[in-house]
Amino acid sequence: MENEAPAAAKKVNLRRPDIMEAVQAQVVNHYRSDLVNRIRQNGGVLSMPGRLTVKLAKEFGFCYGVERAIDLAYAARQVFPPPTRIFLLGEIIHNPEVNRQISDMGIVSVSPKPDDAELAGLHLNSADVFIIPAFGTEVSTRRKIEALGCQTVDTTCGDVMSVWKRVRQYSKETVTSIIHGKAWHEETMATSSQARAYGSGHYLVVFTLAETDYVCNYILNGGNKEEFLAKFQGAYSEGFDPDQHLSAVGVANQTTMLRGETEEVQRRLRQAMTQKHGIANLEQHFRFFDTICGATQDRQDALEKLLLQPLDLLLVIGGYNSSNTSHLAEMGEAKLPTYFIKNAAKMEDDKLIHHYNQHTKLEDKTPNWLPPGNTTIGITAGASCPNNLIEDVIRRVFELRGISVQELLAG
Ligand code: SF4
Repeated sequence: MENEAPAAAKKVNLRRPDIMEAVQAQVVNHYRSDLVNRIRQNGGVLSMPGRLTVKLAKEFGFCYGVERAIDLAYAARQVFPPPTRIFLLGEIIHNPEVNRQISDMGIVSVSPKPDDAELAGLHLNSADVFIIPAFGTEVSTRRKIEALGCQTVDTTCGDVMSVWKRVRQYSKETVTSIIHGKAWHEETMATSSQARAYGSGHYLVVFTLAETDYVCNYILNGGNKEEFLAKFQGAYSEGFDPDQHLSAVGVANQTTMLRGETEEVQRRLRQAMTQKHGIANLEQHFRFFDTICGATQDRQDALEKLLLQPLDLLLVIGGYNSSNTSHLAEMGEAKLPTYFIKNAAKMEDDKLIHHYNQHTKLEDKTPNWLPPGNTTIGITAGASCPNNLIEDVIRRVFELRGISVQELLAG
């Protein structure tokens, strides 16, 4: 049943050892960093005593899902050289540097959810290839592309597919999926589409604890349906009715949320359902499944440990639309001056840094960000950030202090 395709669809399996071996060198060449590897081997610390110390989180950067997606995109180009056309639904992952490399290989990015007009404009034929990104795609988009007879290279991460499986199960049991995530994020859109595609369930996406409390209150006391639907516009399935479809709910989440927050969403909904239906009947009305991915969890745990050490500031490196990176920045912000940057160029000089403010969705400029005197900087990076970008940032901070990393390593 899972993602069944019409006979015309051709799903291409590129994970053959001969193909993967051939692309490894290319991938490593684009994204590796000897400096980062060396610092990791030295316990994650690079220091010029008395002047500047950089401490890396124990886990950061590329996760297995991202590595796999990039490998597959490179493999697709290898197996389907020009003039075969390769299209990518949106971005392969949320990192501008990686997306630039993919585009340089002649892989053309189209909308994450192309409509009929956009697809018609591409004049597709059965030789064309579509890459599905790491966060997956909506069921309707997948079906459309398959129906056109194009070849597909599916890079959807296995951890995302585990969430889909859970949501489909809820749906088959007519349980509404309450998805803790960002309704506008590709992964959550793909996940929520699973709720309607294979069963009779609905979905509702909640992003904040305040939204969760609103839903809990509605479960317990009812409320104004129009207000509910207006508040969650764009975040529920067609035909969703809070008066009918909140009587049995199952919680799932976007894989890259903050674990503590997801646990709190589960706890509050469970409490509301217990209060409403009684503990003896809870099983019929409430389900949950922890779907935070291991890589996200490892990066959050490692940052938590790094933040226990004395640091003057934290640099978080990653694409501004990367969900897991934004949560790392959020963790830092709660403790110390934190700058979310997408590359080393954002550090204009030691007096000025340009950094992303995820609350306003704009880049801020902060003067005098690098304190004088002996400074310790913590560094982490999201699961979609390649090591070469992390190296650039490390080199830049030392350069701003007039220290050559080359000489430091030699000495
Ligand atoms: S962050 Fe997690 S779910 Fe997303 S690609 Fe990486 S391993 Fe997969």
